[in-house]
Parts: sequence; structure tokens; C-alpha cells
Amino acid sequence: MKKHELLEHYFGHTTFRPFQEEVIDSILTSGDVLMILPTGGGKSLCYQLPSLMMEGVTVVVSPLLALMHDQVVALKANGIAAAMLSSMQDHQESDEIERALGRGEIKLLYVAPERLTNPYFLSMLHRLQINFFVIDEAHCVSEWGHEFRENYRQLSLLKEQFPSTSIAAFTATATNAVESDIAEQLGLDNPARVRGSLFRSNLTIRAEHRIKDGRAQLLEFLKSHKGDAGIVYTLSRKSTESIASFLQGKGVDAKSYHAGMPTQEKNRVYGDFVSDRIQIVVATIAFGMGIDKSNIRFVVHMTLPKTLENFYQEIGRAGRDGLEAETLLLFSAQDIVQQKMFIDDLADTPYKAHAYNKLDKMVRFSQGEICRHQSIAAYFDDKMDKCNDKCDNCLQPDIKRIDITTPVRKLLSAIFRTRQNFGLHYVIDVLRGSKEKRILDNHHDELSVYNIGEEYSKAQWLTIADRLLELGAVEIGEFKVYHLTQFGVEVIKGEHKIDLREDRLAIRKTTTKKRSAINDLSEYDKNIFDKLKALRWEIAQANNIPPYIVFSDKTLKELSISMPKNREGMLEVHGIGEVKFERYGEEFIRLIGEIGA
Ligand code: ADP
Repeated sequence: MKKHELLEHYFGHTTFRPFQEEVIDSILTSGDVLMILPTGGGKSLCYQLPSLMMEGVTVVVSPLLALMHDQVVALKANGIAAAMLSSMQDHQESDEIERALGRGEIKLLYVAPERLTNPYFLSMLHRLQINFFVIDEAHCVSEWGHEFRENYRQLSLLKEQFPSTSIAAFTATATNAVESDIAEQLGLDNPARVRGSLFRSNLTIRAEHRIKDGRAQLLEFLKSHKGDAGIVYTLSRKSTESIASFLQGKGVDAKSYHAGMPTQEKNRVYGDFVSDRIQIVVATIAFGMGIDKSNIRFVVHMTLPKTLENFYQEIGRAGRDGLEAETLLLFSAQDIVQQKMFIDDLADTPYKAHAYNKLDKMVRFSQGEICRHQSIAAYFDDKMDKCNDKCDNCLQPDIKRIDITTPVRKLLSAIFRTRQNFGLHYVIDVLRGSKEKRILDNHHDELSVYNIGEEYSKAQWLTIADRLLELGAVEIGEFKVYHLTQFGVEVIKGEHKIDLREDRLAIRKTTTKKRSAINDLSEYDKNIFDKLKALRWEIAQANNIPPYIVFSDKTLKELSISMPKNREGMLEVHGIGEVKFERYGEEFIRLIGEIGA
């Protein structure tokens, strides 16, 4: 079969996405390839399809078992012979796979990088006919990336041991420096470099200063995502649990997930989320790498991520089906202090300076007032025009700024008058004239700054303090005690004016743009969609696979609009190829017939 026929037959797509053909053609001519394409751009197809056109087996190196497992399940569902070899299998199972490999019955073999140092495994590879190697998540090879993995370093042995077998390396995120490092570490021979634009046009990106613990902002955001699948990221294990139970208390279907949970529990939450049985997962970053759930409609960060690479990867998990998705980053100056402390604790290596630098870029991104997509692109050495309507900064370009010099001077004075000996909450309580025993015991009700700050709520004072941290007018010392810096002293003396975006002093009503789906999918019939979804769920249950492997949400929406009555009609629909039609087509035609009757 030709490229286009394979695309339709096995994958159910009618056209290639940008850059896919370029990479496929390079692989077919047995050249090395290095592709950088955002999450959801369609990288897997770039190696899966040429593998079907070439003799032999393709060996895919991938960092995570869950990721490999999902890929193998999805491939098998499309009628493609795929397998994985991992430490999870028993001898009998891996023997069977080895025998199938020997008989040339497997097209794609997924393995973890540590396999490649196993002499037994390597000698088996030497006996096979390998058409090309694939390195997935190739940024893990580079120390300058954000997820360096020691065992990825060993991948240099591929070119040493298999000099005439080509390598195709893929990643979603790499600056120019990381890209060159990947090529060098893997020993790629003049690779075809294909770099897609990083712009995810279906993602609307927002970033806001967090007000208090951010929970009110989270609830406000979720109002426009009723029933949508989403991930909420937070920093600590404890906060995943407390936010999940807060959401449950508000009637939201949420579960927590973190690395400290028993494996069985983690697998259950993961499985339930992927199968649409849980709406929201509140997780530490342990969750979601390589997650292949295409209908994640939103990602929220409750705190500042360490790097823009992390941020971009995490938000990238939303909207892989190409439909509209939204992301919200909540951050505060205290996050910056905390992240800095984590880095302070690292050993003195070049990596440490690098980490400060990355954090600094992340901070500037979050506070920045230019197009969010544009600043991400710039970080990865890519250029693009303003997105215009896909980020908060472009949607609300002219937010008013107000002068807060007077309240700022009050706050700084209160820190100073309480002898720079107390935490922020205490200082604000003094300003707002609290009658708390501790304040009276310390005679702080007798200070000139006592009760001069009633015009603002506590939350608003916290925001003003955040602004001072951002500007470096105060610092946080041991026991969270606030100190003035030299700049802070100058502000008290009236030498500087301080301003603030007006919207930061109120919990802004998120002016969420109504989502308009591509190709007018917004017109889909929710009722019919739900019935199709129910059938999809039954089929998924019966076959023990996640629902999106049967059909994606996009496919179901298209079905609810076009209501095909026969095979031809079904095959026109996005995501339905011959194989999928063979497996599930008739059942859906029958249901559509019943609905239409
Ligand atoms: P990546 O690995 O780059 O994150 P995937 O390979 O997982 O992306 O693909 C993301 C989604 O895009 C999948 O749902 C896939 O079915 C879909 N896709 C890939 N190629 C095409 C195409 N040519 N036409 C339509 N959809 C595609």
C-alpha cells in the first residue's frame, strides 16, 4: 500500500498533518531524522507509518512503561502488530514475544532504554532485521534539557553497534542548544531536522497571580468546564489531597494522584481518568507524562512550575484531539521564593546555575504582559506573530494599572515597626486593627501603623505584599519573617512609585471565551453524542481498553452530526479507517439507525 492508503486504512485519517510527510519520506530513504513537534502534533504516526512500508521490525525506545503500553494498545486496536518488552512481563510472555520477533511477525517493538545495555537483548537485536530505531522523548538524552535521564546516555551505543541502521529521534521540546546536543549524543549522521511550530492554536493560555490559596480562582475557572476532563497540578503530595477533597466538597468529581500512593491505587486513578470515570485528577508532576488521553480539556497549575519546558509539556497534555482546550497558571511571588530554596539546596554543579536561569525565565513568562504563545516560542528559539485571541494578554491587552504607593508604604512601615520580626499574616492583622491576643500582648495596638489598613481586605494586602516580593522591596527570611531590602527602604522614603494591574486587587471573573470547535463541531448534538459515548464505553469495557482507543471524542462528535448509515459514510469520518470500521463500525451504524428511527 502507498502512504496515503496506509494513512486511511490503518489510522483513519485522510490527510497528513504539517511535517509528517517530510519525516516519513526521510525515514523511507534510511536517513537519520530529528523531529521537534509539539505534543499532539502527531509524531507517532511519523514512524509507525513508514515502519509498515519497510521490511523488518522498528525498535522504539521510550522512557515510560505506561507510555509504551498505551502506544501498543492503540496500535493493536488499529490492527498493527506491536509489542513491548519490559521488566513487567514474566519469562513466558517475553519468550513468546521473542519467538514472534524471530518469525518476523512484529512490526513495532517498544523497549525501555535500560534494555539496550543488556547483552542478551543486544545479541537478540543483532539477529533481527531492524529497519530503523526510534528514540521517543529524545530530550532526555541532553543534560541541558529539563528531564535528563542517565540511562538515555547509553543510547550512544546504538550507532556504535548498528552503524548502518538509521535513527529517528522525536521530542516536543528542545531549544536549539538541546537539539544539537541530542544529535551529538546519539551520533546522528547529518540528520534531517524537522521543526514544527510550537504554537498550539487550540490552547488558550492564561496566567494569573494567585489570590490566597487560589481555590476561588480554580472554582471560577471550572465553571466554564463542567463535566470536562482536566488535570490540576500542584506542588506537594499533601496539597493534591487537600485540593481534591476541597473539590469533592463542592460537588466536583476529582481524585488525587501522587508518587507516594500505592502503585495499585495510582493505576486505578490513572485508569479511571483515562476511561472517563473520573473527571479531574489533582496531581503532582508525577502524573501525566506521555498520557495518551486525547480529550483533556483543561490543565491548571496551582503553583509555578520549575521551568518553561515543564510548563509547556504539562499544558501540552490538553487538547490533543485538536479541539479547544484551556490552561490556567496560578502563581505568586512566594512560589518563586520556594523554588529558589529548592535550587539553593542543590549541590554546586553547572546544573545549579542553569536551574536558576530556567526559573528566572519561567518567572518572567508568568509575569510577562506580551503574547504567551509568542514568549513560549521565543524561549524555544522559534518565532511567531501574536496569537491575538489565544492568551489572556492578547485577549485583554489594556488592563489598567493603579498607583499603590500609599498602601505599599503602609505595609512596609508595618513590617518595619514590628521590627521585621513577624510573618506576613501578623503584619497585615496589625494593619487591619485586629484584636488578636498576641497583638495586644506585644502592644502592637499602640503602634502608629495599627488599624490604618482597613481599606483593603486581607487577600488584597497579600496581593500587595506579593507585588513587593516581585519588585524586590522585601525578602522572606527564616520562619517566613519579612524584611525590607534597600529598595524597600527607598520606597518608604517616597523615592519610588509602585503600581499594580488593577485586576489583581479583585478576584477577576474569568472572561472565558466560548469554545468554538474546529470544523463547526460545536454544532454537535449532545444527546446523540452521549448515546454514542455510552456505546463506546460498553465496547471499551468489553475489550478492556480505554474508550478513546475505540473512537476519540472528535470522532463521536462528527458521528453525531453526520449520522452515517453505511460503511462509506462511516469511513468519511475522522479517525475511522478500515480496521476500526471492521471492529466497531456495525455496532455504531446500528445505534445511529435506532436514534434516527
Ligand atoms: P504526539 O506524539 O506528537 O504528541 P500523537 O502521535 O499522539 O502526537 O498524535 C496526536 C493526535 O493526533 C492523535 O489523536 C492522532 O490520532 C492524531 N493524528 C495524528 N496524525 C493525524 C493526521 N494526519 N490527521 C488527523 N489526526 C492525526
